[in-house]
Amino acid sequence: MSKQQNVIIIGAGLCGSLLALRMGQRGYRVSVFEMRPDLRKVDISAGRSINLAFSDRGNKAMKLVGLEDKAQALSIPMHGRMIHDKEGNTFQSNYSGRTHEYINSISRGDLNSLLLNEAERHENVNIYFNKKCKSVDFENTSALFKDYETKLEFTENADIIIATDGAGSALRKSYFLGKKFLFSFSQDYLSHGYKELSILPTKSGDYKTHKNALHIWPRGDFMLIALPNLDGSFTVTLFLSYSEGEYNFDNLTTPERVETFFHKEFPDALELMPNLTQDFFENPTAALGTVKCSPWHYKGNTLLMGDAAHAIVPFYGQGMNAAFEDVVEFDAILDDHEGDWQTVFERYENHRKKDTDAIADLALDNFLEMRDHVAHPVFQEKRKIEMALEKEFPTKYSSKYSLVTFNENIGYQEAMLKGRAQDKAILSLLKNQSITPSENLNSILKKVQQETENILNLN
Ligand code: FAD
Repeated sequence: MSKQQNVIIIGAGLCGSLLALRMGQRGYRVSVFEMRPDLRKVDISAGRSINLAFSDRGNKAMKLVGLEDKAQALSIPMHGRMIHDKEGNTFQSNYSGRTHEYINSISRGDLNSLLLNEAERHENVNIYFNKKCKSVDFENTSALFKDYETKLEFTENADIIIATDGAGSALRKSYFLGKKFLFSFSQDYLSHGYKELSILPTKSGDYKTHKNALHIWPRGDFMLIALPNLDGSFTVTLFLSYSEGEYNFDNLTTPERVETFFHKEFPDALELMPNLTQDFFENPTAALGTVKCSPWHYKGNTLLMGDAAHAIVPFYGQGMNAAFEDVVEFDAILDDHEGDWQTVFERYENHRKKDTDAIADLALDNFLEMRDHVAHPVFQEKRKIEMALEKEFPTKYSSKYSLVTFNENIGYQEAMLKGRAQDKAILSLLKNQSITPSENLNSILKKVQQETENILNLN
């Protein structure tokens, strides 16, 4: 098998740059075409998703390419959710009862730069910026690009083309518009959008609030969250309806109204955000949606990966982690079937799609959990029990959150089925008063396991 095969990757975002690095390590001749300028030279963040929750599935990919330590150096541990109520009271709800399990806040730009630098170390990897893919001829394995610098169009051919060009993928559009095969596609927007804001560091460069947590201000129909950055700031994201409710993006049109809204709903956050209204009116409001499609591949010629294949809403903090896990799964299938692209692509999609469908659904569930349920007493009761079970029985019990976030050895679908059954089991045992918080943990574990088993058997 010739490793001298040419691979085109469209998009040098998180997934594309990791894939380029891995394919470079495997010896392929890789050409990556990215529509935007090089983010290592030009600031292109534009107020959108500056930092991300990075967890075990993403880290597994870093281990695969030998970058675990370098990624860790960019990460800030977040041990749990710090919930802020309307009076400014806070309490922390840890992500796991096992102390070594936590998620991390990581800068999108720093992580992307790390991956680009490492990919470019391989002389068989070339990355071209300011080159936008306009369409893909998937029958002839060629792609049409526009060079933003020369304004000229050009065509590139390869043995395979993998599109990691995000939620608006050019390859996906070509599948759809090409009408050469049965291509299913759905895109569902939430009625909520998001806007990024910031809490700047103190004058001495310190964090203005607790550093090692993901802060949440849950308010039922909307919420605010904040993740720490290495420079002492927090990136704050407001998730809010475009048009519904007393306050929404459509009617927050003046600085006074924005301040009134924050004063009423997030007074303790407002105190930390003297720059609120400037951020609010400078930064864009962006939409949130779920993309599902199939097939991801055309014969052995082209393949969709990352958000291009399965964009999800951000509420489980798993979009990037899932895109990174795509590369790990793809790589494992390549180990077994290298040389036969059609089989690699088919096996990859058959193996992977059920899991990306599952995380898409889990992410929507978590929207409700974060903006609403986390503040409810019964939810908090359930979390307390789960924490205690994880602490007491670290090898016997994992909550849904832990299964999804910290158990990278099982797929998202398995995590979802088991996790949902456990949730249902604990809530129904609490509702029927079949378990009480003061009960012996051994007895609680047995009841939860039994009830979970019953629910799983019914499904
Ligand atoms: P992208 O990151 O979108 O990269 C696509 C790349 O392709 C870009 O560089 C783009 O410029 C380029 N491109 C696009 N079109 C073309 C074209 N036609 N030609 C050439 N290049 C092109 N995930 C997490 O795991 N944790 C989180 O906490 C988290 N938080 C999020 C918060 C928000 C508000 C949002 C919106 C998303 C969040 N995500 C999170 C999801 C995460 O951002 C995505 O899943 C991840 O970026 C997907 O990586 P990707 O490389 O597939 O796509």
